[in-house]
Amino acid sequence: MSAASPYDAVVIGGGVTGAGIARDLSLRGVSVLLLEKGDWGAGTSGASSWMIHGGPRYLEFDWDTTRLSCQDAGHIVTIARNFVSRVLFIIPVLPHDKNNIERMETAMEVYDRFQPLKHAHPHRRLTAEEARQAEPGLSPEIIGAVTMEEWGVDPHRLVFANVQDAIVHGARALNHTQVTELIRDAGKVLAVRYRTSDGAMVEARGRVVVNATGPWSPLVGAMAGIDVQLRPAKGIHIVYPHRISNFSISAESVDGRDLLMVAHAGFTLLGTTDDDFYGDLESVDVLEDEVDYLIQGIERVFPSIREYRPVRTTSGVRPTLFKWRRYEDELSRRYEVIDHSKQGADGLITIAGGKLSMYRLMAEETSDAVCRKLGHQAACTTASRPLPGNESEPEPAAALASRCGIPALAALKLQTRHGSNSEKVLDEGGTSRILCRCEPVTEGELIYATRHEQVRTLADAFRRVGIAAGPCAGAACILRTAEVVGSELGWSASQRFEAARDFVRGAWLGRAPVLGRSGWAQEELAQGAMRGLMAGDGAR
Ligand SMILES: Cc1cc2nc3c(=O)[nH]c(=O)nc-3n(C[C@H](O)[C@H](O)[C@H](O)COP(=O)(O)OP(=O)(O)OC[C@H]3O[C@@H](n4cnc5c(N)ncnc54)[C@H](O)[C@@H]3O)c2cc1C
Repeated sequence: MSAASPYDAVVIGGGVTGAGIARDLSLRGVSVLLLEKGDWGAGTSGASSWMIHGGPRYLEFDWDTTRLSCQDAGHIVTIARNFVSRVLFIIPVLPHDKNNIERMETAMEVYDRFQPLKHAHPHRRLTAEEARQAEPGLSPEIIGAVTMEEWGVDPHRLVFANVQDAIVHGARALNHTQVTELIRDAGKVLAVRYRTSDGAMVEARGRVVVNATGPWSPLVGAMAGIDVQLRPAKGIHIVYPHRISNFSISAESVDGRDLLMVAHAGFTLLGTTDDDFYGDLESVDVLEDEVDYLIQGIERVFPSIREYRPVRTTSGVRPTLFKWRRYEDELSRRYEVIDHSKQGADGLITIAGGKLSMYRLMAEETSDAVCRKLGHQAACTTASRPLPGNESEPEPAAALASRCGIPALAALKLQTRHGSNSEKVLDEGGTSRILCRCEPVTEGELIYATRHEQVRTLADAFRRVGIAAGPCAGAACILRTAEVVGSELGWSASQRFEAARDFVRGAWLGRAPVLGRSGWAQEELAQGAMRGLMAGDGAR
């Protein structure tokens, strides 16, 4: 489409919200351009706790958010079955916790009313013995526990599935493409100017422009002279490359906040902090005292936590709506769809606030607002329409594994990313060779992702197929990954090395805060080996 023929909607931001909006609008027959400055889901969405949950703690001060999240979670887990898995929490109670076991159980009884909305089971109360039988790592000091069921999700795949479906229904979606300017005429936003991945500056007209940039929305608003007010809050996680427990465990931090150690498929996330953030959104560093705060909190209920070796940290900034005076943790997770016409920027709509767990609803309401502006009448279908790979039931992983000659675990992981399209993915790649010993990702899947899923960097490959996500953190697989991606994208030998070096550097920033003394020594060895390999190859 040329600058002369406008899109109906230009959506800025390829996190879960923007991707959800692009999908919703294109399913309604609206022409869409979706622009993401980094990679799909690489902002706050990927740095989340990977949970589609209702948030029982919001019940005390933000009942509606819990209800809406549970309702929308019910839709999301139905349309995205292959990306979600049940996560069962044990919430242990210690003698001096702010909630004794009776209060905790009462809260869970209230939360049980919402559980059917998201197809989850009601809580159970456990004696201390029962809890410790289920998870022997729990502290002998606990006096009881309750259970709670939530859903885990791979946000990278969830975001990409929305992008993929938007493209199938006619949208144009570009990653590594940054909007640098909103073009206005008098009181109307007419177009966006953006920088493509190869540095070209392009203009695209949109009858409506949607600012779905999460914590960046004040910066994009400012491009149109609009003040979008958020109260951004930083959160970090510690990532362990294995399951520490089969249960997720909640704990109280030193300042009384709820911390979660979440058992996802093959790894554990320990989080999270929640602190007002005033810094640069492009470098949200993790501090060692944030790591100490999380470990101190979980250690009270799970004393052996320090014996486990983390592989990295993640950090992100919540796009929380502005409110004065409230303590960060008690801020509402509500969202707002803002039509800026009254502020002199007609044609610009911002979606601010919210949660991943209700992204579909946020996208629906934003798309409704866009359609009203366009005078376009079409109903939303995303509550029941399956995302790609969920149209039919996938075959048992063991059958796929034996037919394609890959380990059962590799087949299972492939299905969590591609559902019923898994075989097509392997066929296209043409090889079932395993790329990394610790994460059974096949080269075939990586080739498919590079050809069809907009992988442009090795960090994109990490998000799309989970390469370098296991205990080796890339040490055993990143050079081969660079070879595979590089041969698809036509990279020279030195471009492949540079890509591997960039990945290692980026990964290092996330790992440094959790390296103990032996970790630093190992890191130096690994980096030295990598430099040696590169020098050796360069000399050939
Ligand atoms: C630590 C933490 C844990 C969380 N855990 C959960 C959880 O478990 N469950 C839950 O429901 N919610 C959770 N949340 C909240 C949830 O992650 C966010 O509400 C949600 O992901 C926000 O999505 P988004 O698409 O609005 O923003 P983002 O994911 O940040 O997407 C915005 C995108 O806009 C892009 N962008 C910015 N400027 C431009 C530009 N000029 N041009 C082009 N693109 C641009 C960015 O690169 C970014 O990718 C958590 C948040 C944090 C910080």
